[in-house]
Amino acid sequence: MTGEFTTDQLEIRAMARDFAAGEIRPHAPEWDAARELDPGVFDKLAELGFMGMRVPEEYGGLGFDASTYLLALEELAWGDAAVALTVAIQNGPVTALLLAHGTDEQRERHLPAMAAGDVLTAFALSEKDAGSDAGGLGCQAVRDGDGWVLTGEKRWVTNGARAGLVLVFARTDSSADRGHGIGAFIVDPSAEEYEVTGRETTMGLRASETVTVRLDGVRIDADAVVGDPEQGFRYALEALDVGRLGIGAQAVGIAQAAFEHSVAYALERKQFGRPIAEFGAIQGKLADMAARISGARALVHAGAAAMDSGSCGSGADSRSARAASAKLQASETAFWVADEAVQIFGGYGYMRDYPVEKLLRDAKGTEIYEGTSEILRLVIAREILNEAATSHEN
Ligand SMILES: Cc1cc2nc3c(=O)[nH]c(=O)nc-3n(C[C@H](O)[C@H](O)[C@H](O)COP(=O)(O)OP(=O)(O)OC[C@H]3O[C@@H](n4cnc5c(N)ncnc54)[C@H](O)[C@@H]3O)c2cc1C
Repeated sequence: MTGEFTTDQLEIRAMARDFAAGEIRPHAPEWDAARELDPGVFDKLAELGFMGMRVPEEYGGLGFDASTYLLALEELAWGDAAVALTVAIQNGPVTALLLAHGTDEQRERHLPAMAAGDVLTAFALSEKDAGSDAGGLGCQAVRDGDGWVLTGEKRWVTNGARAGLVLVFARTDSSADRGHGIGAFIVDPSAEEYEVTGRETTMGLRASETVTVRLDGVRIDADAVVGDPEQGFRYALEALDVGRLGIGAQAVGIAQAAFEHSVAYALERKQFGRPIAEFGAIQGKLADMAARISGARALVHAGAAAMDSGSCGSGADSRSARAASAKLQASETAFWVADEAVQIFGGYGYMRDYPVEKLLRDAKGTEIYEGTSEILRLVIAREILNEAATSHEN
């Protein structure tokens, strides 16, 4: 053990940093401008096992615990947040949901291909009128013999065009209350009735595909339903607890990149005959950046350690509140740090030729997907107040 992490964890982090420095970061600006990732990067990530970090070894994955996975993910995000987002969806909510609620047959069929990087995955929960209020989704699943037929539209599906497996959430009981009567379905995007109808032009994470998908009567066999077809929304929320820690690590990686660029630039840029790093105002910014990043990283890893050891409690210590707090703190830190980085770079910071404006654009996304900051505050407050109400009753 070295400090809070083991020697093995530090080696994995170093390997991820080396990979990000050599194979990701140099290409990130061109991928951002082209609005496309080189698919070869995922082949290389798969060779290192990084597409199946959370997949157990028996299914061909690395079987990392949450802490180790998040250390590696932060480094990939330091290289490029768009690459990290794909890795985070694959290793986060999709793997978590299949492991927690999939059948042995589903796990055996899908997890080895995911770990090998042969199959990229997507998580299709949001709809045009159901974002924060995802429990109110309208996509319909209608019984058809022992299977189902899916009809509706999914919005903002990351990797929805290049994925080989899409987890789609659809309403199985239209009379059920909000958040109930929803199933989780494994959809093969090569089905004729699965159509990508548009791609968003996003502010940041421009190399990541964010698409609209139309499901026009996609037939789902019984063996492609995950768990209880009435409980899919509950599964989605559980999976998003894991996912939110991943987005927290992604945000810390963005912040760390912005911080390192800022230190280097502050030492190099001279005004009034000396490096701007000698000005107290700049030093104050660098100090606040470092302190906030350390705080956010600590929250992400405290959440991961609690999940790994099964020691989450209630209230602010509950699994959901810990994941929400980590993502909230990390994403708001990333945006704040990237904003300060642009400020430290001055006029150059505002130019596309320098790296920090991209980091600001990328950071903004982390405050929105997998739960906006406002929704995360609601989740944390709900957990705190539920606990207080329970202890008041007793
Ligand atoms: C780049 C990107 C990638 C994405 N990838 C995916 C994906 O792969 N899969 C997927 O399913 N979705 C994805 N999303 C969708 C994302 O999860 C939603 O955009 C997000 O949950 C917010 O939903 P909305 O956009 O409908 O905003 P709305 O829910 O309409 O919210 C608008 C504003 O109102 C606030 N608000 C809403 N309700 C409340 C409330 N009760 N109290 C206080 N404030 C509230 C919100 O915080 C926000 O500020 C992605 C989004 C982006 C930007």
